[in-house]
Amino acid sequence: MAAPVLKLARIQDMDLKGKNVVVRVDYNVPLKDGKVGDEKRIAATVPTVKHLLDNGCRVVLMSHLGRPKGKVAPEFSLKPLVPSVEKLMGAKVHFAPDCVGPEADKVVAAAGKGEIVLLENLRFHAEEEANDASFAKQLARHGEFFVQDAFGTVHRAHASTAAIAALLPGCIGFLVQKELEFLDRAVKSPARPFLAIIGGAKVSDKIMVLNNLLDSVDMLLIGGGMAYTFLAAQNVAIGKSLLEADKVEEAKNVIAKAYKKRAQCLLPADHLAVQELKPDAPIQHTQSMAVPDGWMGVDIGPRTIAIFKEHIRQAKTIFWNGPMGVFEMDAFSNGSFEIAKAMVEATQNGAVTIVGGGDSLSVLKKAGIKSSQLSHCSTGGGASMELLEGKALPGLTALSKGAEGK
Ligand code: AMP
Repeated sequence: MAAPVLKLARIQDMDLKGKNVVVRVDYNVPLKDGKVGDEKRIAATVPTVKHLLDNGCRVVLMSHLGRPKGKVAPEFSLKPLVPSVEKLMGAKVHFAPDCVGPEADKVVAAAGKGEIVLLENLRFHAEEEANDASFAKQLARHGEFFVQDAFGTVHRAHASTAAIAALLPGCIGFLVQKELEFLDRAVKSPARPFLAIIGGAKVSDKIMVLNNLLDSVDMLLIGGGMAYTFLAAQNVAIGKSLLEADKVEEAKNVIAKAYKKRAQCLLPADHLAVQELKPDAPIQHTQSMAVPDGWMGVDIGPRTIAIFKEHIRQAKTIFWNGPMGVFEMDAFSNGSFEIAKAMVEATQNGAVTIVGGGDSLSVLKKAGIKSSQLSHCSTGGGASMELLEGKALPGLTALSKGAEGK
């Protein structure tokens, strides 16, 4: 079942000239030796923040970082992000050492139009994750308008994503719009053939996505560790490959649903298999779908790669989530890399290519592929999966309700 279509106001349709705007961003970036290890998440919000600065707004940015569990934890401070935000936005950034309270109010009040305030980590307060209304009220005091641009957290009902939306007029920023455009619209009304490639470790993590995608895909390619539960469901021998015995029935149901929907569902035709999961283990190329006793499948084999690549070449929309093998070990990364390369070629040939979910992004990084070489790489792993599962996202539902009430 698909989530209802929401009425969401867009930043470009709002008159925000000279306003004080509070923006929820997802700056949950990796920190290395007190410095930002990867600026991608900050860079992803540049269009929204620059649009507000160009409109003479005072921009108050709020985010979480890591899991400080409601307590102040210096290692999760957002202060080290200030130089990156200043550089990428090209504006003065004032840092507020708390996100609420008199000190935060003072820093916000002292900031001028066309300037930015970066608030300290929202999750230093337990009230944030508790979706506490009075905490949201204190955050809402920092502005007269709310922009939601933290796609990575819209699947959470927190004070800065849900409760605040009832307190201020609000809209979605450019990043959230781009995510919805690709994940929601492209998946609901895709250019066809629409192909989904799903891999990764667990059937249990992906079963709802698979079921929901089957309402719209023309073909489903299954690889990675989860493929073995599907092969077991077809009575194929899988040796000691990864198996979720309690998911075999659900795997059967997915195959039956694919058949009913006339969507083709392909499983690996061959594998690379090892007896022990270690980087230098001797590798056997199984010549068929079956994995011999005592062996475990750790990557898709060359025949499967060739078949999957041919289908990628023919598709007009391709969604990929989850590696095809244990890509963390070089010897078992070939299948995932080949799929990644085929996705880049498909993009060059005009297909819409979408990658969602954390580990597929790690594959791209390891393969030296930039996100600009694909149509869209989702910034929100959990949020993108929940959207593809057809679930409503609390941060967006709250925003659409907030908009209705105003
Ligand atoms: P996910 O987070 O569900 O996308 O799963 C990613 C993980 O799946 C990675 O850590 C991979 O090493 C793992 N994986 C992929 N293929 C296999 C396989 N054949 N056997 C065991 N683990 C696998």
